Formats: sequence, C-alpha cells, structure tokens
Amino acid sequence: LPDDLFDEIRHEILSIKTRADLTKFKQNAIYILVRNYELDSLCKSILNFLSRVPHPYFDFIIMNDKPFDPFFINQITKFIINSNNPTTKKWAERLITVKFGLIKAEIWDPLEHKEDYTTIPMSVIESRWEQQEEQGILYGGSRSYRNMCRFQSMNFYNHPSLDGYKYTMRMEPGVEYLCNFDPFEELRDGVKYAFTLSLVEYPETIPSLFTTYLTYKRDEYYRNRELFEFINDGIGGYNLCHFWTNFEVISLDWVRSEEYTRFMEHFDKTAGFYMERWGDAPLRTLAVVELLRIDEVQWLDIGYLHPPFVSCPGDLKTRTERQCTCEPYDFENDILGISLVYMNEDGFEKDDEEEEEEE
Ligand code: GDP
Ligand code: MN
Repeated sequence: LPDDLFDEIRHEILSIKTRADLTKFKQNAIYILVRNYELDSLCKSILNFLSRVPHPYFDFIIMNDKPFDPFFINQITKFIINSNNPTTKKWAERLITVKFGLIKAEIWDPLEHKEDYTTIPMSVIESRWEQQEEQGILYGGSRSYRNMCRFQSMNFYNHPSLDGYKYTMRMEPGVEYLCNFDPFEELRDGVKYAFTLSLVEYPETIPSLFTTYLTYKRDEYYRNRELFEFINDGIGGYNLCHFWTNFEVISLDWVRSEEYTRFMEHFDKTAGFYMERWGDAPLRTLAVVELLRIDEVQWLDIGYLHPPFVSCPGDLKTRTERQCTCEPYDFENDILGISLVYMNEDGFEKDDEEEEEEE
C-alpha cells in the first residue's frame, strides 16, 4: 500500500493509525454462502450493510457449492466497490478484496461418498426425509439444506478462501441491518462468539441432539454453569434456545481448534445432520455453551431483520446513538422498549432485571 494512500486511510479510519492496525483490520471478513439466483437479495443486504458500518472496507468471502455465474461474480464485485460513496470509493477499490470460493463436493455432501461417512443405508436416510417432509418439518425433505447446515456447523472456516482471516461476520441474502454498528471493532477483548438474536428451535428437527450432547464427556463437563443456564430447561434438559447463526461474529481460531473439531465430529459421526434435520444454530449454540466461558460471548445489541424475525435495541439511548430505524414493540403489553435478549458487559443479566420501559 503506497504511503500517501495509507496516510489518507489513517486520517479517515481513526482506528487505523499504524500499518499493524491495518493488518489487523484486514484479518476480518464478511462471509456469505449463497446461490446464484440470490444475486439481487444479496446486493440489497450488502448495500444496507455498507451504509451501516463506519468504515465499509471489509473483505467479502462468498462461497457456493456450485460454480458462480460469471455475471454473479462481476455484478457483486462491482456492486461492493461502487456502493461506497464518492469519497470512500477510491479507498474501497484499493482496500477491498472480494473472493469467490467453490466448495468441494465431498465436503459439501458427504453422502456422495457414503461408505466413508455412515453405514446407514441410503434407502433408510431417504425414507426419513420423506417422513419428515410429510410431517411438515421445515426443509424436512431437503438434502441440500442439510448439507448447508452441516457445512455452516463444521466446515466453512476451513475453506481455503478464508485462510489468514481471524474473524468472520456471517451475512445472508435478504437480511437487513437496522442500526449503525461495527461487527469487529465492537467486540470486547477475548470474545470468540457474538450474536444478536436468539430463538427457540423447532423440537421436531432435533429429537436426539441433546442426548447426543450428553454423551460428549470431558473433564470440566458443565464447568460453564452460567452459559449452561441459557439452554437449561430447568431440570438439566434443553430449552431449545439458540443463537441465530445467520448473524454471527466468530473467531476462526476457535472453530478451527482441536476442541471445536472434536466436539463437532462427535455429533457428525451419528449422521444426525441427515437422519434428523439439525440446524447449524443449535449445533453452534451447544459448542458455545460447552467450550467457551461467558466472557468470551457477546451480545451485539443491534437492529437486525431476517424475515420473519427482527430484533431492535430495547434502550432508547442505544437506538438514538446507533441511528436505528427500528422500534421495538411488545405487542402483548402494548409498550415500546423491550429487548429480546439481555446481556450486560460481563454476560447475561438475570430475567427479573430485564424489562426496560420508556416513553
Ligand atoms: P433459512 O434462513 O434457514 O430459511 O435458510 P436460507 O435459505 O437462508 O439458507 C441459509 C444460507 O445458506 C443462506 O445464505 C443461503 O443463501 C445459503 N444456502 C442454503 N442452501 C444452499 C445451497 O444449497 N447452496 C448454496 N450455495 N447456498 C445455500
Ligand atoms: Mn436465512
């Protein structure tokens, strides 16, 4: 990077004072798994994101199990650079790398080489999909959705296009960001996982997930009482809560660790991703609960819409500072100002401290 360009950047991006800061900045990327036909909805989400972050110069790593159309590659690349305003565009052109990664078939779909993966006959697996489709389970009949969930749980971070990066923020086509935020600058030191929205899983998609979790034993089992409380149904079972992974900021060092790998392999070897319809969100959540300390997890209180669910900061001061365009609304009690998830600087707040009313 030439000195004059670096000087300009240093003045514009206040958090970047030295070349070492710039290197650190470039260790983060926006990660997107997407299909060719999602081009338009992805562009809308990218445009929205770039208008919400203080310095819109992130690298974008975009992956697909099928080759991207040349048209897709060309439009997305230009769109990311051109979405910067005239002042920042000249740096965007120099600073942003957009990479398009093809996922290998054997990584995407382990059933292609089934004999290496499971002894369960294909006919048994396929009849489970049919049953689950008939039961009305969301994506119950889909092989590709299952591949996607497994890939997001235990593979995306090993794709060579993410080599060298330390953190990614996941983005999906069609999502909207409703407040200003910076996915990486806002992380406290030592944080390995950040989320914004949490939901309750459909139980019929994960009949054996929690019992599989209980058979994963290690010496400090349940050392994370505080994090375990997030998923505890009160009697040591699973309350179905999970971090909604379509927005997540994640330490790649953490998910690439031996500990995380071993944890995921424990689940994968049961073929539960295929016999049932495990989502990547409950898988990631169990890994967070099992492997991280509460101070390594952060709630980013930003406005976020992934239809049909939305979150919005419950606190008026936060909404004002972040220039949010959302308003949280508690329909049941007809009041403004309720957040869905409550975390303070050090972790989760207790339930009875949670409600905050305004206006
Ligand atoms: P939902 O939010 O759970 O209903 O699932 P999505 O359709 O949003 O899928 C999650 C993410 O994976 C999105 O970024 C999709 O674009 C992506 N995705 C889902 N299925 C596939 C697939 O078969 N191939 C590719 N390349 N991406 C997929
Ligand atoms: Mn989605």
